[in-house]
Amino acid sequence: MKLDVNVLRYLSKDDFRVLTAVEMGMRNHEIVPCELIDRIARLKHGGTYKVLKNLLKHKLVHHDASKYDGFRLTYLGYDFLAIKTLVNRGVFNGVGRQLGVGKESDIFEVIKEDGTVLAMKLHRLGRVSFRAVKAKRDYLRHRSSYNWLYLSRLAALKEFAFMKALEEHRFPVPQAVDCNRHCVIMSLVPGYPLVQVKELQNPDVVFETILGAVTRLAEHGLIHCDFNEFNIMIDDDEKVTIIDFPQMVSVSHPNAQMYFDRDVECIYKFFAKRYNMSFEDNENDSDGSEVEIEEVGRPQFSEINKNSGFLDKELAASGFTRKDQQELEKLIEGELSDSDDEGTSDEDDAEDINDTNVKQLESLHLEKEDDNRQVVDEHDDNHQVGDTDDPED
Ligand code: ADP
Ligand code: MG
Repeated sequence: MKLDVNVLRYLSKDDFRVLTAVEMGMRNHEIVPCELIDRIARLKHGGTYKVLKNLLKHKLVHHDASKYDGFRLTYLGYDFLAIKTLVNRGVFNGVGRQLGVGKESDIFEVIKEDGTVLAMKLHRLGRVSFRAVKAKRDYLRHRSSYNWLYLSRLAALKEFAFMKALEEHRFPVPQAVDCNRHCVIMSLVPGYPLVQVKELQNPDVVFETILGAVTRLAEHGLIHCDFNEFNIMIDDDEKVTIIDFPQMVSVSHPNAQMYFDRDVECIYKFFAKRYNMSFEDNENDSDGSEVEIEEVGRPQFSEINKNSGFLDKELAASGFTRKDQQELEKLIEGELSDSDDEGTSDEDDAEDINDTNVKQLESLHLEKEDDNRQVVDEHDDNHQVGDTDDPED
C-alpha cells in the first residue's frame, strides 16, 4: 500500500481531531454516524462536516451512506493517527522507502532526527492471514470491539511485547523501540530474508543456528508458528535475525506439538532444497547433495525442557497479558490450522466466533480504551507533524 506521508503536512489540528473522533466512534460502530463524529469532535460552526470532506479527499476516511450517513477510518487514516502520535513522541520524524510487503503488514523505513533509520511495521489484519475477519466483522456488525482496528492493534501490541521479551533473553530479534495502535517501531535489520539468499558460505552453521533458536524458543515456552525463510533475515556475515511474531503461541497450546514440528520441518525442507543439504541416512549417497548433515538431533518437541511460564512472567510486564494471548490465539487458530487449505471460505470461518469470545473481546477492549484518550489530549499540544517533517517548510 502506498503511504504518501506528504499529506500529513497539510493536515491541521482540526483534521486530526475529527480523524480521532472517527476512530473513537469505531469502538462501537463499524460506520460512525456523522452526528456522533460531530459530537465527539466538538468543532464550532459545523466545522466537522467540512473537515470530513477534506479527510475523504485524502482517503483517510471512507464514506458509507448505505444504511445511514457515516464514515469509517481507512487503513491510511489509522496509519496517520499512529504516525502522528509517534512523531509527537519524538520516536522518528520522517518516513522513507517501503522495505517489505508482508502477508499482513506493510514495512517502511522511518528516520530519526539524528539520521538513524528504524523499521516501522504497520499491521494489516484481514489482508490474507485474517481473511476470515471480514466475515466475522459482518457477523459481529453490532459488537463494538471486533474489528480490524482492534485486531491490528492487538497484533502490534503482541509483536512489540514478544520482541522486547525475546531481546531481553538474547534471542536474535530486532530491537523493539515503540508501539502505537497497529504500528511497531523496531531496529532496522541488515541483510535480506533468507528466501532471497541464493548462496551461503556456511549453510550448515546457519542451519544449526536457526534450529537452535527454535529449540531455545520452546525451552522458553514459545513456538514461532511461522518460522520459515520469509521470517529469517541474514546479513552479509550470515548472522541470523528472526522477525514476525504476532502468531506465536505458548508451548502449552493444545496444538503446540503440531506447530513446533511444522516450524522445524519448514527449515529442514528449505535447506534441503535451496542449499542442497541432505539430512537423511540415505541408502543412496549419490543424490548429488553437496552438504551432508548427520541426522543426529532433529529437535523433538517431547524432549524439550519447556518453561511455559514465560508468557505470564515476562510478557505481562510489557502490557500483553496471557488473556490477550489466549484471545489472539483463539482468533488465529483457524488460520494456523488451515493455512495449507486455501479453499476455506469466509462462511466456514464465521462459525468459530461465538458469544462467549465476543464477550471476552468486549471486556478486553474496554480495558484498553485509555490509549485513545491520550490521543485526544495530543490535539491540544501545538506540535504538528509538518513542523519536523520537512526541512523546506
Ligand atoms: P508479515 O507479518 O506481514 O509477514 P514481516 O514482519 O515478516 O511481516 O515483514 C515483512 C518483510 O519486511 C520481511 O520479509 C522483511 O523483508 C521486511 N522487514 C520486516 N521487519 C524488518 C526489519 N526490522 N528490518 C528490515 N526489514 C524488515
Ligand atoms: Mg513475515
